Amino acid sequence: MVKSILEIDTLFLTPSFAVVFEVKNIAGSLKFIETPPQLIRTSADGQIDGFDSPAAQVERNVELLEEWIHIRGIHLPVYGVVVFAYPKQIVELAPVKTKVLFPKLIPSYIKSLYDKPSKLKKDSFNWLSTEIMSSHRNYIPPPICETYHIPRSDIRTGVACEFCGNLGMIKVLRNWRCSSCENYEYHFERK
Ligand SMILES: [Zn+2]
Repeated sequence: MVKSILEIDTLFLTPSFAVVFEVKNIAGSLKFIETPPQLIRTSADGQIDGFDSPAAQVERNVELLEEWIHIRGIHLPVYGVVVFAYPKQIVELAPVKTKVLFPKLIPSYIKSLYDKPSKLKKDSFNWLSTEIMSSHRNYIPPPICETYHIPRSDIRTGVACEFCGNLGMIKVLRNWRCSSCENYEYHFERK
């Protein structure tokens, strides 16, 4: 059996098809280029950055999920969509094969797929849903200190006192009290 980790943002499963949604939040003017697959973003200030292509990511996830379903003896078409969460993301150049949608357009896209004939009987569909749910693991992102190569021991936790800098303010009713200099900070809650 193939063992690979499938990181899927959102999966939409029906007896006729499955859709993998890759949700992205990259502000600016966006260009998908194909060889090599990359996403080029131009920010409002003119800065240009490159990202892994979400189109290539979603296509890979589609292939992996198709395979995952297939080895369980089920044939179900899988589609992939890149979703840009905010309209501030301007798609200057869309990818060649992959669908790119804003959230508002997702319902009508899904409706358009319902023309497909139903592939799975209720039993198989329920079995597949359960199988997916039981293989599901919540994604826990790596700690930010690992991403930035900061030793864990360099990170101190707690609420800092404005007066002496000590970490370890203690919440007392609606106030915070410093355990080192006894400073009280008052926070008046607004109605
Ligand atoms: Zn203090």
